[in-house]
Amino acid sequence: MPRVRVLLLNAALGPLDYRGDAEPGSVVVVPLGPRQEMGVAWEAERLPANEIDEARLRPLLQVLDSPPLPAPLRRLIEWTSDYYLAPLGAVLRMALPSTSALGGARIVTEYRPTGLVPDRMTPQREQALERIVGRQGLVGELAAAAGVSDAVVRGLVKTGAIEAVEVSTDHPYPRPDPDFHVPVLEAAQAEAAEALRASVRERAFQPFLLDGVTGSGKTEVYFEAIAEALRQGRQTLVLLPEIALTEPFLQRFTGRFGCEPVAWHSGLRQSQRRRAWRAIAEGEARVVVGARSALFLPYPNLGLIAVDEAHETSFKQEDGVHYHARDVAVMRAKLEEVPVILASATPAIESRHQVTLGVYKELKLPERFGGAEMPAIEPLNLVSDPPPRGRWLAPRLVEELQGNLEAGEQSLLFLNRRGYAPLTLCRHCGHRFQCPNCTAWMVEHRFTARLACHHCGHVMPVPRMCPECHEEESLVACGPGVERIADEVAALFPEARTAVVTSDTIWSPAKAAEFVARMESGEVDIVIGTQLVTKGYHFPNLTLVGVIDADLGLSGGDLRAAERTFQQIRQVSGRAGRGEKPGRVFIQSHDPDAPVIDALVRGDVEGFYEAETDARREAAMPPFGRLAAIIVSSEKEADAKEAAARIGRAAPSVDNMIVLGPAPAALAMLRGRHRLRLLVHASRSIPLQDILRDWLGGVEWPKSVRVAVDVDPYSFL
Ligand code: ADP
Ligand code: ZN
Repeated sequence: MPRVRVLLLNAALGPLDYRGDAEPGSVVVVPLGPRQEMGVAWEAERLPANEIDEARLRPLLQVLDSPPLPAPLRRLIEWTSDYYLAPLGAVLRMALPSTSALGGARIVTEYRPTGLVPDRMTPQREQALERIVGRQGLVGELAAAAGVSDAVVRGLVKTGAIEAVEVSTDHPYPRPDPDFHVPVLEAAQAEAAEALRASVRERAFQPFLLDGVTGSGKTEVYFEAIAEALRQGRQTLVLLPEIALTEPFLQRFTGRFGCEPVAWHSGLRQSQRRRAWRAIAEGEARVVVGARSALFLPYPNLGLIAVDEAHETSFKQEDGVHYHARDVAVMRAKLEEVPVILASATPAIESRHQVTLGVYKELKLPERFGGAEMPAIEPLNLVSDPPPRGRWLAPRLVEELQGNLEAGEQSLLFLNRRGYAPLTLCRHCGHRFQCPNCTAWMVEHRFTARLACHHCGHVMPVPRMCPECHEEESLVACGPGVERIADEVAALFPEARTAVVTSDTIWSPAKAAEFVARMESGEVDIVIGTQLVTKGYHFPNLTLVGVIDADLGLSGGDLRAAERTFQQIRQVSGRAGRGEKPGRVFIQSHDPDAPVIDALVRGDVEGFYEAETDARREAAMPPFGRLAAIIVSSEKEADAKEAAARIGRAAPSVDNMIVLGPAPAALAMLRGRHRLRLLVHASRSIPLQDILRDWLGGVEWPKSVRVAVDVDPYSFL
């Protein structure tokens, strides 16, 4: 009797055998106890399972008609699970959309507002109609967007204020045209583009590090590789670090190829997700742009992967499966036997090291496109020339902003801190507002008049009186966030038009598009933003950049603190002077002689990387050595401590490996869970994953405890 091994989407279960027949990769529905579960048929020889008697095998219920997951993707899922010590089912889940997207009708009913006002208006109906302007989606999606119950939305459908629309989830996407608008490339661009095109034609694995200064035309260059993949009839995946960057990307892509690529991100409606997934799985979607999650989709005919802003640490996923999308992208390219392009103006030390080893090919674009100059960078010493008390902009920066306003040019102030102030305290008794669930201060947000925890999302209204000593009007904000800088700018330049750009204001591609349009039409004079504005954007009239606090990222013992500061400030500097007018950058610092600041000011990229790389080599830190973190957490402090201690005691003694901890994590409490960390530091020569698996496999802990392994960690909280 035929039997088939099935990997279920359920992370808690291993592979199971069923009676029936299905090609490896087929999406199937199987019985599990009284329930039905979705899974994927797998090669039995690759996934060991418990032998089950022929007689006890239950039958497959259904083989879905969606395309099977291709073999290279199945190998990628195995690799990811193995490398990052994640359950196979959890990795598999990233490759499949929801069940409803796979089977069922090809026509779905969605709803949208008609503009009619219902005869009977209630506050809830009013709120719903206000918030769903221009939206369309399932009843549940609209209800969620409006913050009301499904019943309210259904009620509005009855009144005619919302109407039903039939949406076909299968109508085809337009095909990008590789010859729609071919740019004339400069010499260095043309050379890099040719190397990429040749590699696409060759159809072999080859990673490229496309290392070009900001504004050098990296995007134009990798677009040529995409054009080649299109001519070959193959698919391309472009990974971006943030969905906020999707919108400018879509615009540029349309300019080059005549239509938009297929976008994949968390903001898609269910019908859009279904349509995109099927088009991808059938090979119809030729170019897909997305965040990390687009990496595990079932492209049957991949010809190229591009990772833009490849140095960005947001490619590292910090919950669920802890994987690094950049590294998994390279592995996928290897399994698919296609080239992969890592584009960056500030490559990670890890990526540069791969060039040194001869694994990655380096393509350099040393100059800005069209003869634009790199901006001049000047440090501003906050010790010798501080801002007035209670202010954060140094006198010189204020002068420069004034001059830029008068010249009708745009400016950008960068501070990587959301909200108004990072800490609020009572000036009477010293009480500080701490999150009840996390080891973190509550951050004041004046726009919403709330205190918010940036780790768990806990919010509370800003109280009028101190909860400790009951003194009224005694709360003071300590330190600046972007909102406070915006206040200062408004006080200094009441006539200036400002925009605050953070994840609080730009939380969807549509919001990003709005911001881009305002910048381009010159409706904004001064942008105040977090790391969200440091990358990707191209505003030719933006000529002045001020870094409010260059020291911010340097405190704390993070392995990559200096590298990240260097990257961030170089990126944000790269927003200045991208057009015909030259740019100027001012960096405020208490320690302008610090090596990072000095390297930035002198533009000494090679010197900086060399010093950092040497330091990493000395300390045997990545990429020369390896790290893995083990995070033990529980709502019960004693359980967490006890489990962490047990794991610590069970640590194997292995040459070239040391285990630090357990110790309370920097975020000793997060979302109500007490956390301890162990950090494993090992040489590259030992099989770290096997050791971790054996080690953790031999320790038991109570159900209340969660143990997460973070291989190649980027966050040390
Ligand atoms: P990077 O990604 O390296 O920062 P971009 O690709 O954004 O640089 O290019 C900077 C600007 O120069 C963009 O507006 C881009 O359209 C333009 N550009 C670059 N190369 C060319 C070219 N060969 N022809 C026309 N415009 C170009
Ligand atoms: Zn919290």
